[in-house]
Amino acid sequence: MATKVGLISLGCAKNLVDSEIMLGHLRSAGMDLTSDSTEADVLIVNTCAFIDSAKTESISAVLEAHRDRGLHRRHANQRLIVAGCMSQRFSSELTGELTEVDAFIGLDQLEEVAPIVRRVLARPAGAAPDDLVPDHLPVYIPDFNTPRWRLTPKHFAYVKIAEGCNHPCSFCVIPQMRGKHRSRTIESVRREAEQLVSEGVKELLLISQDTTYFGMDRWTEGRSPRAQVTASRGESLIDLLEALSSIQGDFWIRLLYTHPAHWSDELISTIARLPKVARYVDMPLQHIEEGMLKDMRRETSEAHIRDLVQRLRKGIPGLAIRTTFIAGFPGESEAQFETLLDFIEETKFERLGVFTYSQESGSRAAKMDGQIPASVKKVRYRKAMAAQQKIAKERAASLVGRKMRVLVDSPTSARTEADAPDVDGKVILTAPLPTGEFAEVTITGHKIYDLIA
Ligand code: SF4
Repeated sequence: MATKVGLISLGCAKNLVDSEIMLGHLRSAGMDLTSDSTEADVLIVNTCAFIDSAKTESISAVLEAHRDRGLHRRHANQRLIVAGCMSQRFSSELTGELTEVDAFIGLDQLEEVAPIVRRVLARPAGAAPDDLVPDHLPVYIPDFNTPRWRLTPKHFAYVKIAEGCNHPCSFCVIPQMRGKHRSRTIESVRREAEQLVSEGVKELLLISQDTTYFGMDRWTEGRSPRAQVTASRGESLIDLLEALSSIQGDFWIRLLYTHPAHWSDELISTIARLPKVARYVDMPLQHIEEGMLKDMRRETSEAHIRDLVQRLRKGIPGLAIRTTFIAGFPGESEAQFETLLDFIEETKFERLGVFTYSQESGSRAAKMDGQIPASVKKVRYRKAMAAQQKIAKERAASLVGRKMRVLVDSPTSARTEADAPDVDGKVILTAPLPTGEFAEVTITGHKIYDLIA
């Protein structure tokens, strides 16, 4: 009988694609996948370690899976494998602490998942893991023909165009887990996208740690900043958007995780010119106040961000900008937070999320003086979210009576071009429409973040 494998995917869309790649390889190796963890011979927990709460959630998921193994008799021999960011970064510490785990998989080992599963099953239950996560930063990047078992609905798919990050943001530990930025080729992404569209995908969500840096690693690597300016431009996000737009079919291309430092007027006009690219830009800004941006090492400035937001709005009519901010970064004074709040109120972002600062061990910011008490962070978070709630409500009210094109996620729920799956609002449908199809609807009402049609 074929080995049955279950997988719990935690964290962001980038981790979800890694889960899909592992499942694809398990299927190719002849193993069965199950969504019922009680019947799995092997259960993989693909973890996140972006912030403390994500680590806690990951550890709880592993312990819960182990506890279930003890509670159900058929679980007694089930093996437990931990993959993902937490495994990559902490496997040496966790091997001693999480003795319940039968193997740890690093981010460079996604394609080795099937042999690792076989090795784990061949060892006696409870034996200490003998596979070690390679002790170097990952270099892996998928290709167009990488086996993949998609976990998203049939009509949308995440496409990982690059992996890793070259930015030095002081609050972030992602580069220490995911390694240096490495882009796929346009040809590789185009062939994958073509396949997805031919399978009925109506929305391609382009993801990486910094999608605006796509391709640039290949033509800037090893050059001084001055030489980078004069170097002839190689493949870039502009070329990628053009290549994807030329694929036949009716679909949206949605750009997630852009960085304010890498936008250009040419990229703005390219998006405006290409009708398949959604009038939607996800651009985490983290702060606006100059001193905070410097301490965060964001490689951008207040003046640049203010100017960029204006250029984006002017250059792409109807654009929805999604951003995120951090409240309570070390040393953030009341005045600096007020500058951020004013910016939120003035700019009226279409979509906005706020995180309270999380002190990540191993990051520069964790060692900074002036750590803000949790209670202050919470108050600032609430103030920022209350400001945005007002803006969101006004925006939603202004859309009542408008006809809009939506992509139907379920008979009673859809999304406009301004809504990415999972993170943004939805359109509640009062009459059922066919799932996975585009439709034209009239907005008849609204809630705070959601529309009714
Ligand atoms: S851009 Fe900054 S926040 Fe984003 S992954 Fe890179 S280092 Fe982390």
